[in-house]
Amino acid sequence: MVQPDLLCRKHLMGEHVELHMLVGSLNKGRSVKGFIRDGLIEVQSVRDRHEQLVVEMARRGYNHKSPLPDFNSFIAGSVNVSDNIEELKRRCIDCKERIKNEKVN
Ligand SMILES: [Zn+2]
Ligand SMILES: [Zn+2]
Repeated sequence: MVQPDLLCRKHLMGEHVELHMLVGSLNKGRSVKGFIRDGLIEVQSVRDRHEQLVVEMARRGYNHKSPLPDFNSFIAGSVNVSDNIEELKRRCIDCKERIKNEKVN
């Protein structure tokens, strides 16, 4: 849920794949309660979030050939964006660099 232009290629593509997997899980009737409890997903934001990531992928010239399948959305979950920014800075040097440059600009 971090501003897409702050994500490195790996994390942009990774989150995109995760959204497709999440919709796959919802459509197979798998429980996503654990993800909701751990603050990893916002079900109500999945469709808009996918759109944001696709726009950023297109801006960078990455391929996107996979429309998000239909699914029954519902309101569940809340992601703390600033916590995620800190986590990315800790875990990924490429994201850290992008976030640092963003703050300078
Ligand atoms: Zn997609
Ligand atoms: Zn990264």
